[in-house]
Amino acid sequence: MGRDPSFLLLTYDSCRYDVLSRADTPNLDSRGQIYRAQTPGNFTYPAHQAFFSGHLPLVEEPVPYLNRFHGQLFTLQRLTVGGGRRSLASTASTWNVPAGLGERGYQTVGAGAMNWFRQASLTAGFEVFKFTGTDADQQIDFVLQNLDSERPFFGFINFGETHSPFTYAGKPAPDLWPMSSDAMQWPSREEGAVGEATPHFAHQVEAAEFLDSRLPRLFDSLPGPTVVVLCADHGECFGEDGYWGHGVNHPRVLEVPMAIFRLDGQPLPRPRSALSLRDRAYMIRPRLLRRNP
Ligand SMILES: [Zn+2]
Repeated sequence: MGRDPSFLLLTYDSCRYDVLSRADTPNLDSRGQIYRAQTPGNFTYPAHQAFFSGHLPLVEEPVPYLNRFHGQLFTLQRLTVGGGRRSLASTASTWNVPAGLGERGYQTVGAGAMNWFRQASLTAGFEVFKFTGTDADQQIDFVLQNLDSERPFFGFINFGETHSPFTYAGKPAPDLWPMSSDAMQWPSREEGAVGEATPHFAHQVEAAEFLDSRLPRLFDSLPGPTVVVLCADHGECFGEDGYWGHGVNHPRVLEVPMAIFRLDGQPLPRPRSALSLRDRAYMIRPRLLRRNP
C-alpha cells in the first residue's frame, strides 16, 4: 500500500444478516461481497469493545481478514494469532486499537448513534468523537469534516437507523409494532409471527436501504486505498424462540453481515507469512508441559 493503510469501520447497529442480504443495496454490492459472520458481542457495548481490540466478526470461510485466523486487519500485539505480525496495522497500546494508532500518528475520528457511545470507555481512544443519536447524514458530515485524507486515519461510524424503531430521515411511516423488551417475556415463549413475518423485518430492510443511499457521499470523499469494514455489531431476534431484540446469545443475535474491501476495488495485500517457528513453539509448549509435568 506504500504507506500506513487507512481504515473506515462502519457498523449498522442490530442489522441482521438475512436483512442486509435481502435489502436492495447497489452501493455496497458494487464494492464488496457480504458474508455471514459471527459477532463477538451480543449487544453494542461488548461488540464494539471487541472490534476496537481488532476482533471483528468472524466468517466461516478461510478468507484473510474476514477470518482473523487467516490474517487480521488491525491488532493489539501479543493478544492475537501471530502476535500481530500478520495484520495490516498493529499497535502495542494498553488501551485499544484507535488509541494505539493515534499514538502512531493516525487521525482517529468517530461518530456513534447508540447511547452506549456516551460512555468514555468506548470513545476515549479516539482523538475526536461525537455522540450524534440516529442521524447518518450528520455522522458522515462529522467524519468528513474532521479527516484530512492526506494523512492515515481510523474513521468509525455506528449507524442507528437499523436499530429499532428503524427510523431514518424522511421515513414515511413509523414501525408501530411492540418491540424488544416490550414484547419479551421470561421465560421466553414463541408465539405469533416471527422473523420475516413480522413488520420489523421489512422496516429494517428499509433502513438498510436508506443507509446504502448514503454511502456514495462518504466513499467518494475518501482516498481509494482506504480499507472499509462494513458490518453489524450484533443481530436481532424478531420473535424467534420467544426472543426479541438483542443482548442474548441467540443465533439470530450472533449472526451478522460483514464486508471488507478497498474503496478503489484493489485487493487487500496478502497477510504476511504464517506463524513463525517461535509462534509455533509457543503454541505447542503448553501441550508438552502437560505431557511432561
Ligand atoms: Zn448495537
